[in-house]
Amino acid sequence: MSVIVNVRKVLILDGYTDEPAGLGVPPYIDVYPRYIAGAIWSIDKTIMIKYLTVDQARMALQDFIKEASSYDIIIVVAGVTVPGKYLGGTPISLRELDQWFRVINKPLKILVGPAAKFGIGEVGGRVAELPSKVKENFDYIVKGDPEIFIYDLLRYGEEKASPYITRRDYTLTNKFAIKGSRIVVQHPNYGLNLIVEIETFRGCPRSIVGGCSFCIEPGYGLPVFREPEDIVREVGALGKIGVEHFRIGRQPDLLAYKAFDSGKVEFPKPNIRAIEKLFKGIRSVVPNLRVLHIDNVNPGTIVHHVKESIEVLKTIVKYHTPGDVAALGIETADPKVVKLNNLKVYPEEALEAIRIINKIGAHRGENGLPELLPGINFVHGLIGETKETYILNYLFLRRILDEGLLIRRINIRQVIAFPSTRMWIYGDKIIKRNKKYFKIYKDKIRREIDLPMLKRVVPHGTILKRVFTEKYRGTKTLGRQVGSYPLLIEIPKKVPLNTWIDILVINHGFRSVTGLPIPLNINNVTVKELEVIPGITKREVLEIISKRPFKSLDELRRILRDGLLNYFTI
Ligand code: SF4
Repeated sequence: MSVIVNVRKVLILDGYTDEPAGLGVPPYIDVYPRYIAGAIWSIDKTIMIKYLTVDQARMALQDFIKEASSYDIIIVVAGVTVPGKYLGGTPISLRELDQWFRVINKPLKILVGPAAKFGIGEVGGRVAELPSKVKENFDYIVKGDPEIFIYDLLRYGEEKASPYITRRDYTLTNKFAIKGSRIVVQHPNYGLNLIVEIETFRGCPRSIVGGCSFCIEPGYGLPVFREPEDIVREVGALGKIGVEHFRIGRQPDLLAYKAFDSGKVEFPKPNIRAIEKLFKGIRSVVPNLRVLHIDNVNPGTIVHHVKESIEVLKTIVKYHTPGDVAALGIETADPKVVKLNNLKVYPEEALEAIRIINKIGAHRGENGLPELLPGINFVHGLIGETKETYILNYLFLRRILDEGLLIRRINIRQVIAFPSTRMWIYGDKIIKRNKKYFKIYKDKIRREIDLPMLKRVVPHGTILKRVFTEKYRGTKTLGRQVGSYPLLIEIPKKVPLNTWIDILVINHGFRSVTGLPIPLNINNVTVKELEVIPGITKREVLEIISKRPFKSLDELRRILRDGLLNYFTI
């Protein structure tokens, strides 16, 4: 091992990350590339860092492999611990980690992120250690915090840098977060729909009671918080270089941010002032931001501290942007499973938390979506799960629907066991045993809960503002608003990509809606399009067709009612 001297060029290849608290699949950029870039530029701001996504590398693979060899260091960020399908990109595969980095030889090769820390998650089952043939391709597999390791590596050399080092506090990381913010200008979604994941703390207050059976967060110990000023400074730096979309998503429970008695009690009391300071501060440094969303909220915090939680939720709604989601880790509605896995809430408590969030956030915001809705996370394959669990979960969701409550989305996944969690010894044993129920149950929820719920959240005729067109699928265009858990929108024709449009909702799928871009040109709109416009009558359609072309909207006013006129232009 030798001291790293003369590092001039570093390549960060973003293979994308997805963890329970943190998303890094486009249009998201997670903290890893930013913190790492900041660590490097803290040592020497003249070092050239190139940021590339795995999708960009794939597009010109030969060039990437050739160019990669000209760098001094390559840092690969990778690891999807909660596998899913993504519209914005395809995470790096094991095969790519194997084949690409076997032939790239000259640079020092470092693998970071959940893939290095835990291995690769498989749908339902255990996290699998990386195969040794992949590990051998890299000089370092960083199990600790990559920004600290890279900093030590460049500063003290290989002898003194440990890939197992983890941060004790945020002193260095806060500095790196600001210095590394400018790496985002190299992201392919920069200037478009890029959304930046922001960290507030790490560690779970419930680690004092052992935490949930499947969760890795207690492994970080008790929460260590970033100060509001530090977070605001980072957001300000990002805002200055043009970032407009933010998610305060990197924490297990936003309501536990700087909570009172954190470390002493299982459900610490929310700190209203700290959250207000954070959100108000963010708004003041980026006054023209377009999206400010949140992610995880522990329903247990809400029901143990109703008054304070209501205040915090109101504060979030005051400063955030609409279409926001508080993802609740309810995991199950089976009390036996709650108990055996030491989960945070019993079903009645979870329902109460959902009611409270609805009370504060269900009203519609200016982008067409409710301000703040709960999202539900269910996990299957937990200890004690039986056929009864599936029935109880379904009935729980049914109650939500029957009570007229709103939920933005139901996330149903199968547990992935991580070493150091209680689930590790079970792996996929319970999933396999209950496999016969899973598909039927999921389909039933999609049909009987998701569909009517989506119709309630985004009724026919809703106008969704600022939808970004992302991809073509056959003759259709797929678009989404930017935010936490954005709704997929299918446009039944090709419209230009990478543009912002408003959409009129005309139909619903289980987890997506169909919409027409508005305003529609009254002289070009097809009969088919006219017929599906919510509220339009057959007589109105016929009159429009027979009287075209129109020279002014006033002419149209004689045929259409005011509400419908808004959908058209000349
Ligand atoms: S409450 Fe449970 S799921 Fe949430 S972070 Fe703590 S241990 Fe993990």
